[in-house]
Amino acid sequence: MREQSPPNHAAGQPEPVTLDPLAMTSAEFVRAAGDLGVAADPARRAYRAFFREGDRQAPFPGRLDALCRVRSEVAPIVKELEEQTPEGTIRKFVQRLPGSVEPSSAAKASLPYFDIEAVQIPMIGRRGVKSHTLCVSSQVGCAMGCDFCETAQMGLVRSLTAAEIVGQWWASTHERGASVKNIVFMGMGEPLDNVEAVIEAIGILTDHNGPCVPMTNITVSTVGKAAGMRRLCEQMEKPGWRKLGIAISINAPNDEVRSSIMPINRATPMAELRDLIASVPYVGTHRKICFGYVLIPGVNDAKEHAAELADYLRPFTASGSEDGKHRGMLNLIPYNPRRDSPWPAPYEDAVEEFLGWVRDEGVFAKRRRTKGRDSMAACGQLGTEEVRKRKFVGLRIDGGDPPPTQTAGHACHKEP
Ligand code: SF4
Repeated sequence: MREQSPPNHAAGQPEPVTLDPLAMTSAEFVRAAGDLGVAADPARRAYRAFFREGDRQAPFPGRLDALCRVRSEVAPIVKELEEQTPEGTIRKFVQRLPGSVEPSSAAKASLPYFDIEAVQIPMIGRRGVKSHTLCVSSQVGCAMGCDFCETAQMGLVRSLTAAEIVGQWWASTHERGASVKNIVFMGMGEPLDNVEAVIEAIGILTDHNGPCVPMTNITVSTVGKAAGMRRLCEQMEKPGWRKLGIAISINAPNDEVRSSIMPINRATPMAELRDLIASVPYVGTHRKICFGYVLIPGVNDAKEHAAELADYLRPFTASGSEDGKHRGMLNLIPYNPRRDSPWPAPYEDAVEEFLGWVRDEGVFAKRRRTKGRDSMAACGQLGTEEVRKRKFVGLRIDGGDPPPTQTAGHACHKEP
């Protein structure tokens, strides 16, 4: 969090210590600045200036500025794609991170940089107020290997640090002028495969002196990685954390279908996953678990699939929950074909029909409008061309044998 710069031999003076707010909550920042002799108020002002005004080099008062500085390396935006919608412009932007961090890997060492992607999705509120949902990445690539996901083609390159995750908010807000209301962890990577950094990043994103995004407005979307789920549930017992949104990518009515498109299901079958979901500490809140279901023609879109899915979700419906209230919501997502996809997008009629079937079975369900398909910024279409051509690591799943190394491409469950 705090780094001591090398001595400036030319001047005979040590370089000032730099403090990076992207990697710290305000309390941690104030403490670190305090260790260097900066009082709490000016330290807090500098932290706020960094996050609220986008001042990357906010000065500390007087001579202290010669001793310590606020400084952050926000990854530069190197590419952008835009798509116009009635609500405004969807913008996918690519930030470039320095290359290999693991010299032991010849494959990784051969790339001088890694690109990560975030997507700004415009929204217009009830009173006509414009804002954005920001979809952030948590990893470069992904190890989960879902068979419908573009990102999966990359394999996992590496996990992002908390600062790199928060840096996506900073770039979106201060370099691309977004008014970020919601944050969804639905970009590249499986957030619960990088759970500590994601928890750290959420702590910073919700900081009242920092980005101040309400916990209610943040959603972590996961395929249900068991160890990460347990860790997140533990974190959600802490004050304020129960308001965090959780979205589970189900995508299948039974184990056979799910295992065929999502390797994670071989490690954590659906019954076990349901127990994990039931342990999310939403008791006493009005939050609902969101279940994502990517509707793929010929894979999971039959009427009997709708009935089976409804049975699976029964404990989270009004008729199956203890208090007679819906505890879950199904989000039906029309499949966005990845590059070289074996499946087409579903017909509009098929999506509406499936929605009707699950609703008839008593499931609280909505369909998600598809945004960003043209710019490959939609669900499952995030991925970096240069990296995707390479296969860096074998796929990895909790507890089970790794599935065979992936050679074909994918597209993803993820769209806010
Ligand atoms: S759908 Fe999500 S978890 Fe699955 S491979 Fe894609 S990014 Fe990873």
